[in-house]
Amino acid sequence: MKLIDLPQLNTKRLEALSSAGIKSIGTLMHFFPRHYLDRTTVLPIRSLNGQGEEVTVVGTIKNISEIGYGRKKRLEVIIQDDSASMKGVWFKGASYMKKYFKEGELVSFFGKAKQYGRSISMAHPDVDKLSDPDEVEDIARLMPVYPGNKKFSKTGINSKLISQWMEIALRHSHPPEFLPKSILENHDFPERAKAYRMIHFPESDSEYKKALERFKFEELFLFQLSMARVKKKITEREAGAVFKKTDHYTRLFFNDHLPFELTYGQKQALGDIKKDVQSGHQMNRLLQGDVGSGKTIVAIGAILMALDNGYQAAFMAPTEILAEQHYRTLTSFLESLDINIRLLVGNQKTTLRTDILTDIEGGSGQVVVGTHAIIQDEVNFHNLGLAIIDEQHRFGVQQRAEILHKGSHPHILVMSATPIPRSLAMTVYSDLDLSIIKELPGGRKPVKTAVRPESKHSDIYQFVKDELNAGGQAYIVYPLVEESEKVDLKDATAGYEKLKSQFSNYSVGLLHGRMKSDEKDAVMKAFINNEIQILVSTTVIEVGVDVPNASIMIVEHAERFGLSQLHQLRGRIGRGTRQSYCILIYGQKVSKEAQYRLRKMAETNDGFKIAEADLKLRGPGDFLGTKQSGLPEFKVADIVEDQWILEQAKTEAWTLYDEDPELNHPEHKELQKVFFPYFKEKEYFYGMG
Ligand code: ADP
Ligand code: MG
Repeated sequence: MKLIDLPQLNTKRLEALSSAGIKSIGTLMHFFPRHYLDRTTVLPIRSLNGQGEEVTVVGTIKNISEIGYGRKKRLEVIIQDDSASMKGVWFKGASYMKKYFKEGELVSFFGKAKQYGRSISMAHPDVDKLSDPDEVEDIARLMPVYPGNKKFSKTGINSKLISQWMEIALRHSHPPEFLPKSILENHDFPERAKAYRMIHFPESDSEYKKALERFKFEELFLFQLSMARVKKKITEREAGAVFKKTDHYTRLFFNDHLPFELTYGQKQALGDIKKDVQSGHQMNRLLQGDVGSGKTIVAIGAILMALDNGYQAAFMAPTEILAEQHYRTLTSFLESLDINIRLLVGNQKTTLRTDILTDIEGGSGQVVVGTHAIIQDEVNFHNLGLAIIDEQHRFGVQQRAEILHKGSHPHILVMSATPIPRSLAMTVYSDLDLSIIKELPGGRKPVKTAVRPESKHSDIYQFVKDELNAGGQAYIVYPLVEESEKVDLKDATAGYEKLKSQFSNYSVGLLHGRMKSDEKDAVMKAFINNEIQILVSTTVIEVGVDVPNASIMIVEHAERFGLSQLHQLRGRIGRGTRQSYCILIYGQKVSKEAQYRLRKMAETNDGFKIAEADLKLRGPGDFLGTKQSGLPEFKVADIVEDQWILEQAKTEAWTLYDEDPELNHPEHKELQKVFFPYFKEKEYFYGMG
């Protein structure tokens, strides 16, 4: 059966359906109700109490009358059953409805029963005509309400019509089951075809809930199965690089040049990495640690392992400022080891760029630190053995795939400062192994956070001055919303001018994304050397910037920032031994949600708690930075709400994959048909293409 075979379809309607993703009977059946109207209560008219209860009544039409004139005209239809009578009232479309009714007909009304004077009435009830009283059973049920849109209403597609189509579709098409029997049994799921009936025409609440659960599971199961396959493919293929030797750079650095004792988490992570790179399989690891947990030193450890074995390493950061900082950090940490580190960013001079590219291609450039400039076509590595991607959420899966194609299966270490809630990590990163640094390096004092109105500026500035006098440094951040970049830039620049006069005895610097690389670099250097005491900035400093002496973070218009962003900003301070303070200043108009965000910030320093809250507020796509995240769009499942289904799907999928990776078992025949096309679509994305 084809979509076009359905009754009451025309080109306009087909188009409307197609724009909602409905292009076949299959996709039609997968178009699920948004909610249901409970029409299961059928009552005699006499028993209604008229308090607005939603009920269905059945009666014979006794009287039809139009009352009033012009725009005030209304239609009243009186119906009667064995017990009493009541009326339905239409204020809109009175004339049209009048033609629809006939005295003596048997009808059902569904709506809110309200008492007016001595009689009960319903405004705009849903009406069905019945040919005999028993027919009420067909309509006294949970009525599906389907998601609507403009095109639907323009072409007259409503829930009733969709329902009729569904009825026909369900009768003519029998979608095959592709979940293995054992899974259906384990979870008490209805078979596919039956589940469709249960979701479109449920007999009870529990029916559609069970069916919905099944469809969510199915979606997450396929996804998890593809993750299992990706992971197996990655770990099964021969790694080009085995880093057996750790006797030169690695030993020298960790024995003689490490300025501090590593934390437990750092040691664990380095241990995990070492195991990976010596295993003969390609490493694909996510290093997760809250801001300030010291991920960079772990990255350095991995880099040195690559160098000890004669391989090159790449270190990618999401912004120039960050790339430059990493470059500086690496250079200073590794100063005495005589390693050739190159910085590759966007707008470098041609001669310099050529020199860098030659260095990389010849192999004398041992470490390349840079932005996504690294994955551009003209960059050719001599023998890339390791790629580190910092602040993963800014890059996403795509870039991971691209860097994979740069070497012969380089090891991959992804670092994320966004503490990704477990649910999300399981979906987006379930093809990665995970190392987590749970603690911050010792000697740190938790940052104190205050939320203040604009009117408190002078107090706040006094506080800043006291801190500066005591030797600290401060960030003052202005919002930069992409859509109005220019306006907000003015905010930061104007703020800068104002602050310069406010803090005339101190040195104030400005940093924003529109500045040239070398200008930015110069300002950052001055701030690091404490030649600048107050750094006025846009959110360019949001990720990763590390100046341990900075102890104050002031965020202007904090209400405009997202939770994770505020947490990132706060993570710029509290990196040294000094007590640090984060002051969130809010403006005039603060929405409820913004108030919640600010409160949450004051309440906790725990990045995981903040990420959970942020994810709830924004949803997964937004949380990870929409399209870049590579997160599949789930049609039915919600990875935040449906965590427990996700976990079950994961267990089942990975178990099944271990037992029958090619799905050759007879019981997996249908699954095989569904899964491989699904997987193919995602392949390039995961770096298999
Ligand atoms: P992030 O995880 O946010 O990238 P960084 O790697 O920038 O954190 O480290 C934050 C700061 O902590 C840096 O100044 C770094 O030198 C310092 N640091 C890292 N590890 C330790 C440690 N074990 N003990 C003391 N300080 C450390
Ligand atoms: Mg970092």
